[in-house]
Amino acid sequence: MRLLTAPLVAMGITLSVYTAEYAFPYWAVIEQWKDPVLFFAGLIAGVRWPDWDFLIPGLGHRSGLTHSALLPLFVYFLASPGLASGLSLGIALHLSSDIQPKAWTGGALIKFPVVGSIGKKLSPLWLFINIAGCVAIMAASLDIEPHFAQLIMLMVTSAGTFWYFSREEKRRLIPLATLAASGLLVHSFRSGHFSLSAVTQFFV
Ligand SMILES: [Zn+2]
Repeated sequence: MRLLTAPLVAMGITLSVYTAEYAFPYWAVIEQWKDPVLFFAGLIAGVRWPDWDFLIPGLGHRSGLTHSALLPLFVYFLASPGLASGLSLGIALHLSSDIQPKAWTGGALIKFPVVGSIGKKLSPLWLFINIAGCVAIMAASLDIEPHFAQLIMLMVTSAGTFWYFSREEKRRLIPLATLAASGLLVHSFRSGHFSLSAVTQFFV
């Protein structure tokens, strides 16, 4: 049920924020809270969004289209970095759980329309790359937020992650290690310690 209700609640919150902004353009407090609230809405939706492949006709379960950073990427460029950032956090949490199935068979594998399953070697890689993509979108969104919004968003990140691993996912080690590894990867890219040219030099 939460599969359906969580994204609907998030849509309700998002709609309310935009309505309030439209109705009271002179209220600075709405401008100040807009992105933190959208971030929260994104987080609620993002945790459940990947499994909407059950509801979308034509997609098999663990579809690579929903189990990916695709939605936040679109939202980042077309709508709101704050909302995209919350979606990214939620999706990263969800995918970090999906990276430890009982076995890499059947329902655990990532699938695409037409192509079908991408197999047991590429599925975990796909999940890891997309977790890193989600972390990168979060970092890029936080970069452009004012200090106040950054502070609230980081608090929501801590509280949301704590909630997720205390209520939703009890096998915490691999998901947390995956999130930490993708965070380090994104950090080293952003700080210039690690670059694509360094990777190619390593292999050539
Ligand atoms: Zn899933």
